[in-house]
Amino acid sequence: MTKNNDMKIVIKHNHQPEPPPEKRIILHRPGEAHHSLDPQAKDMPATGGEVVDGRVPHVMRFPCEVTDWAREQHRAGKRIGFVPTMGYLHAGHLSLVEEAKKQTDAVCLSIFVNPTQFGPAEDFEKYPRDEASDLKMCHDVGVGAVFLPSPDQMYAPDASVVVDEHKLQYGLCGLRRPGHFRGVCTVVAKLFNIVQPDVAVFGQKDYQQVAIIRRMVRDLNFPVDIVMAPTLREPDGLAMSSRNVYLSAEERERALGLSSALRSLGSVGAGHPAAESMREQMRSVLARYDLTEDYIAIVDADTLEPVTHVEPGNVALIAAYCGKTRLIDNRIL
Ligand code: AMP
Repeated sequence: MTKNNDMKIVIKHNHQPEPPPEKRIILHRPGEAHHSLDPQAKDMPATGGEVVDGRVPHVMRFPCEVTDWAREQHRAGKRIGFVPTMGYLHAGHLSLVEEAKKQTDAVCLSIFVNPTQFGPAEDFEKYPRDEASDLKMCHDVGVGAVFLPSPDQMYAPDASVVVDEHKLQYGLCGLRRPGHFRGVCTVVAKLFNIVQPDVAVFGQKDYQQVAIIRRMVRDLNFPVDIVMAPTLREPDGLAMSSRNVYLSAEERERALGLSSALRSLGSVGAGHPAAESMREQMRSVLARYDLTEDYIAIVDADTLEPVTHVEPGNVALIAAYCGKTRLIDNRIL
């Protein structure tokens, strides 16, 4: 993936009045040293950063600013669409923005590499980040507001409340990444409270994540409609992902094994084929591309329980290692 760093947007610091200290969850002043988990947080502009060449997007770094913005939108009778991301934006993320724009009047996109959803051996530190390019993309696609908090704005040092879903989180990606979905649910719940969206758009690319967020929204009565947008792919079929940047040229070729395996299943008719033979078929494609299987599953779309006989609407999911990079993909059959 190529990133366009050729941007003209200027970010002014401290242009807007900073929020009153009592409204912040953590009382450090903009410009003071961050003691953040985020290695780049110390370089971040403080609150009030504003894109000045095109009026949009409105860039906010403090939760209270975003909530004020949300209240303003609602007071003006606007519906808010929300797209949570970890940044290093690509066309897949932007397709979620387009979907949010179709359904709502004001779109907020958040960029937050959430430390609590990374395991100790995972890539939190080296997760790709490019704030300038992200802001340019948000500007180009017409995002109204961008929320760019630092970890210490999101988590009090003694934070002790989490959101833990207890049925769907343990299989599939949860097996290899214990605690990952607790981190996801907790941060999404917090973001929903901050942004107060009417609609939130998530990508099918992370199918298990959408299923778990839907469950959280249902079980905790969040007044948010969850929309799942289709996976955007490179022309050769590779699902777009911020992590594709880790792939060498040779790995990039082999990474096509995931989408090829899913495509090889063809269409599932009413014949109820055995799931095991379809999994075996996907396994043989992964082997051909020299990919190391993490899991290959065919599951019920809502419960994520493995099925034995496949019906239209079931979901095939793959996670595989391509070199050191773990890739995921899925297809609704
Ligand atoms: P991430 O920044 O990876 O946390 O992703 C933020 C959102 O973008 C999630 O809802 C993802 O499912 C979604 N997303 C990531 N890749 C794609 C893609 N290729 N097509 C559509 N949505 C995507």
